[in-house]
Amino acid sequence: MPWLAVPYDDETTRKELSNWFEVEGIPTLVVLDKQGKTVTTEGMELVYKHGLEGYPFTQERLEELKHAEEAKRAAQTLETLLVTEDRDYVESKYGQVKVASLVDKTVGLYFSAHWCPPCRNFTPKLKSVYDELKGRGEEFEIIFLSSDRDEESFREYYGSMPWLALPFQDNRIRNLSQYFDIAGIPALVIIGRNGKTVTTDGRGLIGLYGVDAFPFTEDRLQEVQDNMKKKYSDLPKQVSSEKHEHPLVLTDQAYGGQIYICDDCSEQGIGWTYHCDVCGFDLHPECIGETKKQVESEHPSEGVVDSESKAGYVCEGDVCYRLDAKEINE
Ligand SMILES: [Zn+2]
Ligand SMILES: [Zn+2]
Repeated sequence: MPWLAVPYDDETTRKELSNWFEVEGIPTLVVLDKQGKTVTTEGMELVYKHGLEGYPFTQERLEELKHAEEAKRAAQTLETLLVTEDRDYVESKYGQVKVASLVDKTVGLYFSAHWCPPCRNFTPKLKSVYDELKGRGEEFEIIFLSSDRDEESFREYYGSMPWLALPFQDNRIRNLSQYFDIAGIPALVIIGRNGKTVTTDGRGLIGLYGVDAFPFTEDRLQEVQDNMKKKYSDLPKQVSSEKHEHPLVLTDQAYGGQIYICDDCSEQGIGWTYHCDVCGFDLHPECIGETKKQVESEHPSEGVVDSESKAGYVCEGDVCYRLDAKEINE
């Protein structure tokens, strides 16, 4: 350390200061002003967050920084995010791609790493969405921002991705991760065609809606939910499934229209579920049909023999329809 120190044997002073400033853990940095008044006891956090820019760590300086940050966010474009003094490109498998060529597209910033198992699970899902959108000719691009620990892992992982990337250990990765306050990976930030942030939860939206989420705007999500409502309003209100001993009721209100986990496929669902209130049991409307068909084809007799389970039948009022027969009738 290039600075001063309280002598090691002066335990009294160290203890007094520690008590005075109520230091609970180390490292702690207390900043005093020229008059000896306490400026902050959170110097360490401020140095981490602002570095030299934070000096002299006063309330006024922090206000200035906050306003500068707000102005920067208000003026956000794809180029303010991705162009720096020495780099105006991202990389592809075939060489550099200018950031300018991505302006006016919807762009996903994909924070991910090969060592992260949830990332390895999500990447194929994201890839199928990407391939479908590209196949449809949408103005969409993804940029991989790697948290891989060595270049070989980065190369290997990037090899499985069909989109663009920031170079390994590029400074922009850390800066954007801070800027978007990325707390965990995988994370997918969606930048709209106007350069503004559409959502930092692209991952969750793709998990819920798949390719239908594109372009991730609130209007689009409302439309998707309306479509689900239309689609599900034609389904039977109550079914019996061999997956559960009680009748299941179709509802979008079991969790106030929010997220649930399907007890068949273990994936998330949103809103509409075949729900058992007694057990808190849920099935995606799609999972009832698939499950039944699988069981019937694997065990041709069982589903029908077990009359208790009403397998494959749907009861509406006092009539039970066979699911596939009902579909044909309608
Ligand atoms: Zn399911
Ligand atoms: Zn139940």
